Amino acid sequence: MNCRACGTNLAPTAKFCHKCGAQVARAAAAGWRAGLPWGVAGVALGALLTVLLLRVGGSEERGAVPDGASEATAPRSPLPDISQMSPEERATRLYNRVMTLHTQGKADSAEFFLPMAIQAYAMLPALDVDARYHIGVLELTAGNAAAALAQADTIRRAVPTHLFAFMLRARALDLERQSAGARRAYGEFLKNETAERARQRPEYTEHAQNLDAFHEQATQVIRGASKRGA
Ligand SMILES: [Zn+2]
Ligand SMILES: [Zn+2]
Repeated sequence: MNCRACGTNLAPTAKFCHKCGAQVARAAAAGWRAGLPWGVAGVALGALLTVLLLRVGGSEERGAVPDGASEATAPRSPLPDISQMSPEERATRLYNRVMTLHTQGKADSAEFFLPMAIQAYAMLPALDVDARYHIGVLELTAGNAAAALAQADTIRRAVPTHLFAFMLRARALDLERQSAGARRAYGEFLKNETAERARQRPEYTEHAQNLDAFHEQATQVIRGASKRGA
């Protein structure tokens, strides 16, 4: 038996790949939802990460094909050894990988790595606001609105006006079709946006594109609501 993600030969009883950490049994199909391109972190991640993502990206089709189709072909370029990475680096890399694949429309590959990414964050000893945002986005991508809401609440308790809390909350309530609550979260985002972005938190720089995209959407939602007189 070979790892579907990296091709490493595995013991028949292995539940996880010892090299790359991938789950050996294919995860039950998560409630895959379309279209969360705002989750992709911005350009500030650095050249190293980009190189890693590109290298990994080259092998992903082979890695993600279902049911043995990949057994015959050994990986041409091995994955970077993630055992050399810190748990934080590993989690961030998996998050970015899922988001990049998702944005590229490679839903199968993204879905394959989604449980790994969530698991990588679950193993971190401490979570800052940015990590909680990443978890929330991953949970939204998996269709778990309640889990995303929990991250939004934790962020809000730590930093009551943090924009990421409003973003996760609005998206999660959208997912649950609670449009009134979602509209309130969009509105709170817009109300706090100028003062918050003036604080120049590093995570705002990293996710500047996501913030800009969310601003556009929030403006549309609020404008649409006032047109309907809601
Ligand atoms: Zn592997
Ligand atoms: Zn981030």
